[in-house]
Amino acid sequence: MKTIARVVAVMATAIGPLVNAGADGLKIVTTTSDLAAIASAVAGDKAEVRSICTGREDPHFLQAKPSYIMRARDADLWIRIGLELEIGWEMPVLDGSRNRHIRPGAKGHLDASECVNVLEIPAIPVTRAMGDVHPSGNPHYWLDPFNGRCIAVAIAERLGQLAPADAALFKANAAVFQQSLDERMFGAELVKSEDGGRLWLKVREGTLEKYLSDAGKADKIGGWLGAMRPLRGKKIITYHRSWSYFADRFGLTVAAELEPKPGIPPSPAHLAEVIELAKAQGIGIILQEPFYSRKAADLVADKTGARIVVVTNSVGGEAEAIDYLALMDLIVSRITGTP
Ligand SMILES: [Zn+2]
Repeated sequence: MKTIARVVAVMATAIGPLVNAGADGLKIVTTTSDLAAIASAVAGDKAEVRSICTGREDPHFLQAKPSYIMRARDADLWIRIGLELEIGWEMPVLDGSRNRHIRPGAKGHLDASECVNVLEIPAIPVTRAMGDVHPSGNPHYWLDPFNGRCIAVAIAERLGQLAPADAALFKANAAVFQQSLDERMFGAELVKSEDGGRLWLKVREGTLEKYLSDAGKADKIGGWLGAMRPLRGKKIITYHRSWSYFADRFGLTVAAELEPKPGIPPSPAHLAEVIELAKAQGIGIILQEPFYSRKAADLVADKTGARIVVVTNSVGGEAEAIDYLALMDLIVSRITGTP
């Protein structure tokens, strides 16, 4: 029952309006639908959660609208991805809202990137010539399920500070979310006999396979990790540099992007290089979000025989992606080519 309520709630987030209507509860506004989905799972019926992005648009290039400002006006908590993903539109919304409780530095402002291990922090100063490189590192971190887990804990902690009477409940909800995530990541059977936190520790140390084979459980890996296992070590091409965390977690290598530089559309000269590279290295998958044009991917696929995988990387970006776990289910099934 609880799951159904949550699913309905998150579906509502994906299309914009409210979630978990707690009349006098907390009001949470998130920049992205992924954060809204995790916040809904953690807040339960103690908060109304709304997202600015619906999941169907490119979050780098949103236009600040009056309705976003209205949404932020009476928010108790603003949660952002950070790392400059929202740089073009976040401050106009916060300034316009005149809500000092949710400005950066305030208790009502949570930057979810603070709890993750950031990848691709540029070693040299970023210049315009490098394209839209994010100077603080790659912001697409929600695509590593480990980070989804960490975000839930960070949200539970902050909600607990804002509403101390419900702190234990938020913590418990985050634990339930983590448990469900762990079952999806490793398979329910393995998580029955092994603590999820321990499994993650082994994954992060790079020792999970050895640990499980020593325990006689090498064949017990299921879930997303089990499904992605045959693709370990494979090289892929992505449109934008938005899949680094996902690739890193599941052992894929992003060998090239269709964009010559982040945020710069594919050029014929660059695509010619990508085609050469894909042929030389036998790259079989081109991965991109639905909001990018397919033209470049079609061209590369045509010349190389690579398979194009179009899948959303945000909750609400496709009908099936009703919450964070369903989003990851969808991505894994598309990439592995299993229905
Ligand atoms: Zn980006």
